[in-house]
Amino acid sequence: MEITEIQVDGYEKVARCRDDETGLHALLAVHNTALGPALGGMRMLPYVSEDEALFDVLRLSKGMTYKSAVAETGLGGGKSVIIGDPAKLKSPELFRAMGRFVDSFGGQYITAEDMNIGIEDLNYVHETTKYVTGLSRAEGSSGNPSPYTARGCFQGARATAEETWGSDDFTGKHVVMQGVGAVGLPYALMLQEAGAKLTICDINQARAEELAQKHGFNVAPDAGHHKIECDIYAPCARGAGLNDETIPELGCKAVAGCANNVLLEERHADDLLARGIVYAPDYVINAGGIINVGVEVRPEGYDEAYALERIDRVYDNLKAVYAVAKREGISTHAAGNHLAEERIAAAKANA
Ligand code: NAD
Repeated sequence: MEITEIQVDGYEKVARCRDDETGLHALLAVHNTALGPALGGMRMLPYVSEDEALFDVLRLSKGMTYKSAVAETGLGGGKSVIIGDPAKLKSPELFRAMGRFVDSFGGQYITAEDMNIGIEDLNYVHETTKYVTGLSRAEGSSGNPSPYTARGCFQGARATAEETWGSDDFTGKHVVMQGVGAVGLPYALMLQEAGAKLTICDINQARAEELAQKHGFNVAPDAGHHKIECDIYAPCARGAGLNDETIPELGCKAVAGCANNVLLEERHADDLLARGIVYAPDYVINAGGIINVGVEVRPEGYDEAYALERIDRVYDNLKAVYAVAKREGISTHAAGNHLAEERIAAAKANA
């Protein structure tokens, strides 16, 4: 196995691992550990080149620094990527080798599930490093993050409602949600419980119909769903849904969904601001899962009651973001970044 460092400005440590025996070709980036060890998922994709993988791992690890800083998880930002087709390259030996790569960072980086990586893969990684989170509850881990992400989203929706119509009363308010999956469904149920009327859509139309019948939601076709008039639009499916084409057509007063990278580009937050649409930055509102994992890596170990109390602070984080945006006259996305940078700078100053 050969591990080589790659020098990248602004990043604490970036390295490449090549292992001929298992076919492992991976990159690992630790962006910043001012607030704690860098935590971020491991993903596996058939990148067309190492440059493409490097671009992804750098962007994602920096995103994790900002997400954790705003969420006050006590963690820094990092990420790892395995280059290759998951359908062809996955093997226990490959993941054990990946574990050794993770372990070579000596705890500066802690890994977790991400795209195309499942708990069974992480179990092999765990055979060669202890720096793994999100294993099963039975192993003392924090388990599936989705219900916690949903809870954080609901708290964020409360703050967003206050910002939009001046109270967190959802009675009779209309929410349009795209994607009723592991996070979307429990989030929809919490909104409904609070009094909201839900219209859902999903690329899996049969699932949407079934859930609508079971829970009393309305169903809309996925095409054009963003134009429906509503109080809150909750994108909970995929990234890049808010772009030059969709933003002028949005029928909502606010956006509060769990989907990652929902803005095609950061500048789209300014377009939402210009349209007077309140936007809960994705990485602030969907931090419930990472907050939960952050509790797992404390020396005391995982404690659900404590995790829930921390997750409920997504409400306070959104309130802080809206206050900074107003004070500085900037988009909420920029305000989130601002808050993160302030917290990192304060940690560095106290170090
Ligand atoms: P999921 O796969 O369980 O659910 C996604 C749902 O969206 C599915 O029902 C799927 O059919 C639907 N969908 C997918 N593509 C679609 C499309 N193009 N149009 C309409 N519907 C579509 O995923 P999830 O875990 O609920 O995650 C949803 C989003 O939230 C993702 O962007 C994910 O990155 C983000 N997120 C998830 C977590 C978590 O804890 N799971 C944490 C932070 C962010």
